[in-house]
Amino acid sequence: MPEGKSCGSCTLCCKLMDVPELDKPAGTWCRYCQPGKGCSIYQQVRPDVCGSYRCMWLSTDLPERWKPSRCKLVVTDGRSIKRMQVMVDPAYPHAWRKEPFLSQFRLWARQGTIVSVFVADRVTHILPSGEEREGKKTSLEIALQHLQNPIGPTGDVCHAETDGSTTRNWQSSHGKGQTDC
Ligand code: SF4
Ligand code: SF4
Repeated sequence: MPEGKSCGSCTLCCKLMDVPELDKPAGTWCRYCQPGKGCSIYQQVRPDVCGSYRCMWLSTDLPERWKPSRCKLVVTDGRSIKRMQVMVDPAYPHAWRKEPFLSQFRLWARQGTIVSVFVADRVTHILPSGEEREGKKTSLEIALQHLQNPIGPTGDVCHAETDGSTTRNWQSSHGKGQTDC
């Protein structure tokens, strides 16, 4: 962690992350979180995901304006695997389109990282080409598919628009189809 950085009064990841072990969906405060103060079970056994999570602001030299409690965005750095996840506080759904954030997301995308922006039940992928693909995040499973494998077999972006069934749709620059991407 860079010198001088700490979570301080920020607790936003405890709202925006989903924590399956606690049955906590993304976008709602964890029942163990004291917003602005911290985790009430910090000294006890927290789910592994909580102990290991480091948001990008905390673990890099991103400046203060990127602090999640200020910008309302929690960014997970996945540049090494060409993926980046941006969780947006649903109380501020347009926060990611403000500057300098949007320009930075587009820059990371141009450099080869797919930036996936989650707002409530929607996800927008910003692609290296500069295109944006937006779809409905219909279930945890599909959300994870978006994060873990947003690229379909033809190099296209998965585009989940189903009603929660196991069918996964994809949309490519060549048309639409169905696959298990
Ligand atoms: S979002 Fe980042 S800075 Fe805020 S509490 Fe979580 S890890 Fe700390
Ligand atoms: S268990 Fe603690 S660290 Fe984990 S989400 Fe809840 S409040 Fe945050």
